[in-house]
Amino acid sequence: MTVGGGGWLRALRDVWFPPVCAHCRALVDPRRRRHLCEPCARRLQHVDGPHCTTCGYPFFGDTDTDRVCEHCFTLEPEFREGRTAVLLRGPARTLVIDLKYHGALHLLAEVGLIVRETEGFLDYLRGATLVPVPLHARKLRERGYNQSRLLAETFARAAGGGTRVAEPLRRGVDTPTQTRLDRKTRQENLRGAFAARDGLRLDPAERFVIVDDVFTTGATLNACAVALRRAGARTIDVATFGHG
Ligand SMILES: [Zn+2]
Ligand SMILES: [Zn+2]
Repeated sequence: MTVGGGGWLRALRDVWFPPVCAHCRALVDPRRRRHLCEPCARRLQHVDGPHCTTCGYPFFGDTDTDRVCEHCFTLEPEFREGRTAVLLRGPARTLVIDLKYHGALHLLAEVGLIVRETEGFLDYLRGATLVPVPLHARKLRERGYNQSRLLAETFARAAGGGTRVAEPLRRGVDTPTQTRLDRKTRQENLRGAFAARDGLRLDPAERFVIVDDVFTTGATLNACAVALRRAGARTIDVATFGHG
């Protein structure tokens, strides 16, 4: 599996194998995008306006008083604030699913494009240490990669300005798949699932941004934030590619 590829080699490949849209299979104009056609790219819902300060979900109506969305009222976040690049619908959902479950790592090039197009998203990350949510070692062996780490690297490259990726956390407990569980059960499952690597002390002056593919209930991000704080981190934010 290769990630991206550039220059004349890519131009040559695009002539023989014109890229098709990851979402609808229409031809992609390689001068404009990488793996989404123009109509699908226009359907992306970037979060670049007012949003929930905890999870990044956009506010569509009156925003004078709201700072936290209804999903986050009961979360009690262990991190300071959160942002998400897009809503996890249509083409964005396809990108995340193909990246996570189908090994479609070439789609990271499109993700890099999308986060550049989301106003304020890279400013939010710039200069921070991005911490991907770790996968359990067994799952990492099965899948061969941690999609959150690849996303963090994609974000860091796009943001520049000293943004870096570090992996201070490990996932000790192999938690069952969380998809169908409510927040309370997820939180109980996740208690103690993450810890900093043995003996590691983090710089309290550094800003850490935990990176995951999707913001769902926030329980995983919360558990990671607790582990970072136990290891000495003081400023902890989160960023996700999509909001579920
Ligand atoms: Zn399309
Ligand atoms: Zn929220």
